[in-house]
This record gives sequence, structure tokens and C-alpha cells, in this order.
Amino acid sequence: MSHLQSASAKFDSLTNGQCRPQAAALTFDSTGDLRALDRYFPIVRILDDADSFYQLVQHIAHHPNFDLQLIGANRMNLTTQMPASVRHLVAGHLVEVFFFRRDILARFLSSPRHFQLYTTPEAFQQDGGVSGGCYNPARECIQLVMSRLFEGFNQATPGVCPFLHELGHMLDAFDSGSGSMKRGEGLYPGLRVSDGDIFTPQARILFLQGKRLELTRYLSRQSGDFSQPIPVGHPYVFQNDGEFAAGYLEMFFRNPHYFAAQNADLFMAYVELFGYDTRRAWTEDFPHYVNANRSFYASGQIPPKTRLTIPE
Ligand SMILES: [Zn+2]
Repeated sequence: MSHLQSASAKFDSLTNGQCRPQAAALTFDSTGDLRALDRYFPIVRILDDADSFYQLVQHIAHHPNFDLQLIGANRMNLTTQMPASVRHLVAGHLVEVFFFRRDILARFLSSPRHFQLYTTPEAFQQDGGVSGGCYNPARECIQLVMSRLFEGFNQATPGVCPFLHELGHMLDAFDSGSGSMKRGEGLYPGLRVSDGDIFTPQARILFLQGKRLELTRYLSRQSGDFSQPIPVGHPYVFQNDGEFAAGYLEMFFRNPHYFAAQNADLFMAYVELFGYDTRRAWTEDFPHYVNANRSFYASGQIPPKTRLTIPE
């Protein structure tokens, strides 16, 4: 059996064959070479020194407050059997978001942060997981089936990334002023005046302007006025402030070109907040999000009610 086959067999036995990672992840599992993970993190394309990215990934992967667990059937804790690629993939997503905002990352990890992965959809449901993945406010944790970490990486352009979506919910719930998790208001750490030294005033101004524009466009579609440009996001993310925070965070890392072209203020809010322009690294948009969102509005359907709010 080759090294890759034995790395793959480990996933098969943990997940009853329900998680099939890309060869890149298996290569990392068998060689320990972090550069094998480059395809998961387009940010490395714009860094002079990708090693500094992976040093931070390793630091986070082994951070005492990075509480990543693997849970099997009947709530069996299998964390000690978790493949290294899984741990580094989750840590890597945190680092790609905050590579240029180590101050926010440090604040976020100043207390334990919980991430629970599941070997199978059945194990996920047995432990109270909801829909395709969720942020569970009662447990203050993201819950996700492990295979979903890999599902968006079968093409050259990174696609569906439920972890980033759920991270948006978790960041919304994180109150960086107090360092604890609270009921979200649709704002990421750095956007509240009460965030102290990580507060990023220009990002807040742009976020509120950009979000207001999205809401205005959405409401005009609702009232049957088709003269305005369409919102960037699907009606799903207009349900409430939390879905907006989750959905737009993921789009900043998946379809930045379309996002920026439609709503420059809102896009620049993310650039200000995270300290870099994702268009430089994600050179092509993930077309599915752009097309699915456009086709909804092009269908002429009246979008459902929204509970979106704009803070004062
Ligand atoms: Zn959501």
C-alpha cells in the first residue's frame, strides 16, 4: 500500500468511506509537507513568504484555545484519531481570514473556541447538528461534518466553503470587547466601537454604507422595482443580520470580483477589516454563487421578507 493509500484508508475507516479528501490533503498527511496544502489557501499566491503563513497555521493548529474535536457515532470522541490535514485545514481557514489582522486573531483565541467535526452525517445529527452545518450558540461552537471541509476543493477554483460561512456566524457572536460569545448583531470583531484597539473605524463606516445599499436594492426588488442593480447575495442571506454576516464573509473569499463590482463600499469594508484585497489571490470567482444569486433575481420572483437591520 502506498503512503497516499494508507492516508486515504484512515479516512475511510473513520468515516465509513464518506469522506474522500483530495490527494493534496493525503500528501500532507503522509509527508507532513505543509506546502501540499497550497491549493486550499489561495492567499499563499500573494505572499512573498508562504512559510510565514504555514508557521502561523501550525501555531494556531496547536494553540491551547483552538479546541477542535472529532466526534463519531453515538457522540464518541475520536479527536486523537483526527488526521493532521483536518486540523491544519481548519486552522488554515482562520489564518487566511486573519493573516493581516493578527490582533483580531489573538483576541479571538484569548479564550477557548470550539469546533466540532463529525465523522458522518448520522454522527452530526446524533449530536444535535442542524442542516448542513451550524454555529451552535448554546455550545458556542461550530458543528460540521468533516467531509464538508473538502467538498469545495475538487476544482482549481475553490468553491463551496461551509466552514467560512459558519465562521461568519461565530465571528458575529464573538464580542471582542468582553472576549466572550454573545447574541450576534451582524457585526464582525473590529466593527464595533466597543472593540477597543482592534476597532477599525473606516471598515465600520463602509460596512454600514454597503449593507444599507444591499438592503435598499433588496427592498426595491421586493416592491417590484427592477430598475436598481441587484444585491450581491441570495435572498437566503437577507433573512436576518446573522445570515448576512455569514454569507457575505464567504463571498469575500469566493466571488470577490463580482462582489466588488456590484457593491464597492461593502467590498472595501472587508478589505479594510481584514487588511487585504482577496481579488489579488482569488483570481477567479467561484461561478456557482454568482450565477445562483443572479438567476434568482433574474427570475422576476419577489424575494421573501427580510429582517435585516442597519446599526446606528
Ligand atoms: Zn448561516
